[in-house]
Parts: sequence; structure tokens; C-alpha cells
Amino acid sequence: MSKPLQAIRGMNDILPEQTPLWRYFEGTVSSLLDGYGYQQIRMPIVEFTELFKRSIGEVTDIVEKEMYTFEDRNGDSLTLRPEGTAACVRAVLEHGLAGAGQTQKLWYIGPMFRHERPQKGRYRQFHQIGVEVFNINGPDIDAELILLTWRLWGLLGIRDAVKLELNSLGTAAARAVYRDALVAFLSEHAEQLDEDSRRRMHSNPLRVLDSKSADTQALLSNAPKLEDYLDEESRVHFAGLKARLDAAGVPYVINTKLVRGLDYYSKTVFEWVTDQLGSQGTVCAGGRYDGLVEQMGGKATPGVGFAMGIERLVLLLETLGKVPAAIARTVDVYLCAFGEAAELAAVALSEQVRDQVPGLRLQVNAGAGSFKSQFKKADKSGALYALILGEDELAQQVVGCKPLRGQGEQQSIAWSDLADHLATYANQA
Ligand code: ATP
Ligand code: MG
Repeated sequence: MSKPLQAIRGMNDILPEQTPLWRYFEGTVSSLLDGYGYQQIRMPIVEFTELFKRSIGEVTDIVEKEMYTFEDRNGDSLTLRPEGTAACVRAVLEHGLAGAGQTQKLWYIGPMFRHERPQKGRYRQFHQIGVEVFNINGPDIDAELILLTWRLWGLLGIRDAVKLELNSLGTAAARAVYRDALVAFLSEHAEQLDEDSRRRMHSNPLRVLDSKSADTQALLSNAPKLEDYLDEESRVHFAGLKARLDAAGVPYVINTKLVRGLDYYSKTVFEWVTDQLGSQGTVCAGGRYDGLVEQMGGKATPGVGFAMGIERLVLLLETLGKVPAAIARTVDVYLCAFGEAAELAAVALSEQVRDQVPGLRLQVNAGAGSFKSQFKKADKSGALYALILGEDELAQQVVGCKPLRGQGEQQSIAWSDLADHLATYANQA
């Protein structure tokens, strides 16, 4: 026999025991976004490679070394999306969703692909929920994005475990002036830079700021500071954002080294970080990208967004013990039937119950089995109650209803009362 195949390294199955937590998380986020008036968009997972090169930037970790790029049968270069913003902007432009200054508040969910070194919290296929807003200029929308994530942490019970880091990158014009000053400084000290930084010094000098090398970081403490180069417009914008966060009581720290990995950001950038997940501590990150739509061939359109990593947030919920007990249970009632006649009656009875009690999670024992083995399965299913339909019950048109958790006597319930009785069990915690 040949060895069974395995999944690709860094690409994980999400197993049945994990999906309730994923669905709880996804459901919490989607109803929150509904509540703030965001609409979902679904883009393809594969796009032309050119799209990511143009939007993310050629000299970025993602484009330089992380993309899954291949040639399809037509000879086109395609790439599995490494993030969602590029495809979202492409779709917005293609369908004219943000034309003539029209406001769009969009969100998406799905897998992203990056060829990174797999480790806890870092995978090659991972999942993001992203939000993108078009055509709102002021800091109020930057604040709204942060407030809604803050509300999410509250709903999930993890506010104490995350910290908001904030920075402003200024407008493209201001950054260009800073860039020159930074390059001049870096050139003067080129021999003290790590290899990556030396290579990036000219192509993408801002990325040198978040170099992982301790020596480079030490050198940078004397480098020109981006905050001293911020233009008036960006200063006012940043002050407006901070005032709104202060007014709402959202704590934050300013991190002037925060530049984000992608080229397209301007003005606001932010990250929500936790110290609970080791070095993969960023659970949500985003910022403003006022130049991106134009850079991708559209009219100048302000944009701002963020993406959160679902794996990291699910891990955080598990690490902090914030998995709600109720989501672990997926069955409310388990029906066991004994004998051929009762099995047949169970088919009709269970369908009738499904008609009458929407929302009830009813599992019917599949196949025959002894009383003992059916009961074992009922118990293992996690159901709160077992319904028992044997020959005696069939003759009397009743079912036995036995509580499986905690105390309580078995009751006999007439078929005609069953729906009313079970309605109280639907989604009981
Ligand atoms: P990091 O600094 O951790 O590499 P990033 O800046 O590359 O993150 P973004 O492109 O901003 O990440 O993506 C937004 C979020 O998606 C991250 O904050 C993180 O939660 C999640 N994420 C990014 N890459 C991965 C990955 N390889 N595996 C799991 N989650 C990821
Ligand atoms: Mg990364």
C-alpha cells in the first residue's frame, strides 16, 4: 500500500472540533460589521500577478519572497492572493463601486497565501477578515474602524490582552522628503546596516525602520524621525484621530517605528498586538491608503482598511480560555429508536419535529443498535436530552425523554406535546 498523502506544509485542515470556535468568531464579526453598515464582497482567490506587484509594491517581503505564483495553461502569470486589499480595490474599480465620490464600506473573509516559514500563528494558507472603506477623508472613519475592532475585543472578552499601536506615515509628499533625509542618514552609516537593510536602503528605505536586527535598530535611534517631517494635513488628521479615540476611551500607544509591511499606506497606520502569542503577536493591522486607487489606475479615492488574522485570534481565545461553553455543544436532542417499527416511526416523528421546532439541533441515531450502544452515542454527541422510542412508546404514541446532563428524571411525553416540549430545548446553553 502506498503512503497516504498529507496536506501541504503550513496549510491546515480546520477539524470538526475546531469549527464551532471559528464559526463563533466569524459570526460575531459579521454581525458586528452588519451593525456598523458594512457590506460583504467576495473576490476570487486567484488574480493576475501584476495586480499584487503594482499595489503591494515590488520591494516588499510579500512580493519579493512570499507569493504563490504560477503560470496557467494560457501562459498568464497568476498568484494566489497574499492579502485582500489589492483584489478589493481591483473589484471596486472594475465595477465602479466607488465612482463619483460614492462611499463604500466593504468587508471580506477568506484564505490568503504566503510562502513563509510555518510556525505557531504563521501559516502558508491563513484566513483574514478584512474591511475596506472608500471615499471618506476624515479621521472619523479611521476612528470608526478602530472602535469597531475595540468593540469586537469587548464582545470576545479579550480587551485586556490586546494593545493598540498607532502611527502616522504622512502624505506621500511628506514621506518623500523624509525618505531623502533617511536615505542620506543610512548611506552615511551603510557599513553598520544588516544585509537586508543595506539592500533596501534605496529601494524601500522606510522598511529599514522595522528591521529585526538589533544593531540596525541601535543605529536608527539617531536617524531622522518621520514624525518631524509630517505635513500639516497629516498632523491635523492624526490629532483628530487621537481626539476621537480619547473621547471614546480607547487606549493606545504611539509607535513611531510602525511603518507596516506594504507600500501603499499613508497617514494613519495601526496594529493591535498581544503578548500572549509569542512573536506572532499582531492580530489585526491596517491603515489609510489614499494613493492606492489612483496608483491602480482609478481616480484619486481616499481609502482606509484593516485585516485581522483569524488563526491568531482563535489561538488567542483558546490561550486565554475565552471559548464560550455553549459553542462546544452542537446537538440539543438525540433520538434513539429500538425495533424496526419504532425506527420507521422515528423517521416521520423527527421530520415532524424539524417542521415544528426550527432551530432545534436534533440528531437521529443512524442504524440500529442495542439500547446501551445508542445511549453511549447519545451521550457522546453532547446532547442535553435523549429521546427514546421503543415498542412500548410506539404503542402508546409517546417518547421517553431522558436528561443526559445533570439531574432529572426520565419523562414520558405524548407525540402531540413533543414540539412544545422540545421548543424549550432549542439552543439551550
Ligand atoms: P506579520 O508582521 O505578523 O508578518 P503582516 O504585517 O505581514 O504580519 P498583514 O499583511 O498586515 O500582516 O496581515 C494582517 C494580519 O493577518 C496580521 O496582523 C496577522 O494577524 C495575519 N497574518 C499575516 N500573515 C499571516 C500568516 N502567515 N499566518 C497567519 N496569520 C497571518
Ligand atoms: Mg508578514
